[in-house]
Amino acid sequence: MLDSSRPLLFKRGQCPGCRRLSTRTLYREPLDSPGISRYMQDHYGRRVERDFTGYDYELAQCEHCGLAFQAQVPAPELLEEIYDRWLPATEREAVAARWGLDDYRYLAEQVQFMLDHFRVRPGSIKALDFGFGWAEWAKMAGAYGVDVCGAELSQVRIEYAKSVGIPVVDAGALPRDEFHFINTEQVFEHLLEPGDTLKTLAGALRPGGLVKLSVPNSAKSIRKLLGARDFGALSPEDIMAIAPFEHINAFTCDSLNALGREAGLVPLRPSLRKLYNASSGWMEPKSALKTLARPVYRHLYPKSTFVYFVRPA
Ligand SMILES: [Zn+2]
Repeated sequence: MLDSSRPLLFKRGQCPGCRRLSTRTLYREPLDSPGISRYMQDHYGRRVERDFTGYDYELAQCEHCGLAFQAQVPAPELLEEIYDRWLPATEREAVAARWGLDDYRYLAEQVQFMLDHFRVRPGSIKALDFGFGWAEWAKMAGAYGVDVCGAELSQVRIEYAKSVGIPVVDAGALPRDEFHFINTEQVFEHLLEPGDTLKTLAGALRPGGLVKLSVPNSAKSIRKLLGARDFGALSPEDIMAIAPFEHINAFTCDSLNALGREAGLVPLRPSLRKLYNASSGWMEPKSALKTLARPVYRHLYPKSTFVYFVRPA
């Protein structure tokens, strides 16, 4: 239980992307407002036993790199409580129950794209799944013969990864100039210091290596919130990208690219031929449409928040 004398949240006073101090508040709403209370009830059920009176949801934006971020973020004890007690839907069985053939195909597509990019024997590719969750990407990469390891904070997930043969490395002591590829899937929106973390990952890549960043696109959610000025007016889908406590960095295409630049990385524009060559499911009309459209909106349409960054050679 939390010590009631300690604050539940603390303030990030500088931009978590580029560390500059020139930030401004975009939006503020009390955490016990009707709209946010309803979201918490829908999202966490009855597991929230905290009184957030006096605390705000505060969305700030960096005037230098454009990153929007929650200025008030959970203190470590609250964070642990959220991920360990409030969020039971992240159990592995729940994820497995949600995933279908298309999801696994898409994972395979990403792994094949990586292998096609480097054009060397899969067993000589060193890859890191950073913040691996239930190690879905790492398992897929391993199935293709890649020399893959993972880094993760959650102990139960670390134990799981080890049990299925994925070596786990310490996220705080990554080797330098080591990896051809680093996968991050829905990770950077959660990080307290995404700028520092990406710099660390960039240093762990070998020259010419790739890091994938895939995060929710917050552009529409922020626009709607600033228009309505009320969480109660947002749909669950709108709230997801800027979710209180969890998605504390609200990226757009531009701020994600700025984060890469700050870390000395360059966005890769993948060839459509390679993306299509790595895909499957073409003989089914429904999945064929998705397979055809996804590379276009994800890698050619310039507003995507799924980016492959290269460490310049
Ligand atoms: Zn910034």
